[in-house]
Amino acid sequence: MSEWQRRHILSLADFSPAEYETVLRTASGFAEVLQRRNKKVPTLQGQVVTTLFFEPSTRTRSSFELAAKRLSADTINFAASSSSLSKGETILDTARTYLAMGSDIMVVRHAQAGVPQAIAREMERLGTQVRVLNAGDGQHEHPSQALLDLFTICSVVQPEQPSLSAIAGKKVAIVGDILHSRVARSNIWSLTAAGAEVHLAAPPTLLPPEFAQFADTPIPGSNAQRQLHVHWELEPALENADFVMTLRLQQERMSQSLLPSLREYHREFGLTRDRLRACQPTVKLLHPGPVNRGVELSSDLMEDESISLIQPQVTNGVAVRMALLYLIGAAVPAAVPA
Ligand code: ASP
Repeated sequence: MSEWQRRHILSLADFSPAEYETVLRTASGFAEVLQRRNKKVPTLQGQVVTTLFFEPSTRTRSSFELAAKRLSADTINFAASSSSLSKGETILDTARTYLAMGSDIMVVRHAQAGVPQAIAREMERLGTQVRVLNAGDGQHEHPSQALLDLFTICSVVQPEQPSLSAIAGKKVAIVGDILHSRVARSNIWSLTAAGAEVHLAAPPTLLPPEFAQFADTPIPGSNAQRQLHVHWELEPALENADFVMTLRLQQERMSQSLLPSLREYHREFGLTRDRLRACQPTVKLLHPGPVNRGVELSSDLMEDESISLIQPQVTNGVAVRMALLYLIGAAVPAAVPA
């Protein structure tokens, strides 16, 4: 797809609706490939995809690895706990080591915001063609998660050919630990750019008023503005919502006690079947995982396939990550070295 110009995927803040459409269209092609008996295509044959995970992950790393393998790339996995980082090697030295082994694409996760961006800058400074994909940096962004969420939502409405028209004008509530969530930040960019009306809901300690500053701001590549609302209680966000996304309480990122107790949080903001009655009757529920059962949502809701999109999110993650690896690895014109 020659209209794709992006060499790295680091943030969704400047993504245009046309770029989201390209991701949806490409992912839907790969979702179709994943239905076949032979689920492999030769798209990235001969290329090396390295997952550089400086922070633990269950689904994202496996999902990227499988996506790369389905595209016939060779994969190398780096996990911080078993690495020379403990011997004092710097992050950029680690990236340069994998560059020297011939990495073409680096998929980077780090507990600190900005690390994937720093690696991308370093790869460009060195005059390489290496592409970098942000797989979650601190509290900043998690673009591939938000893109798989977008694909999942659009596929519910338009299973055959998901496009942004499926989500335009729909009400999406994002509930939970928004302050610490990179998933929330990336989803705010993607869902508002897709034309959804996004409602954030959390206790004030987990949802600073600054989030309201993104309301009515321009969407890149469009004349429309972002529709965003902030609530410190759950009810107004849930009222007539078409989709509800709930987020994990990121206790590992909480430096102080921001909640009276998990039980109190569940009482005020936990999603239950009863609470969802305020939403549209067709409401669907998303969660990026991992789930704190009984805290963000009740166990029965999580397992109810007529409401929960948690498993389709994981399944769609592979097709969407194949699309992203393809777009930066094969579709973008290579930069001519200076
Ligand atoms: N898996 C997501 C992330 O890496 C969400 C979470 O951890 O709660 O950000």
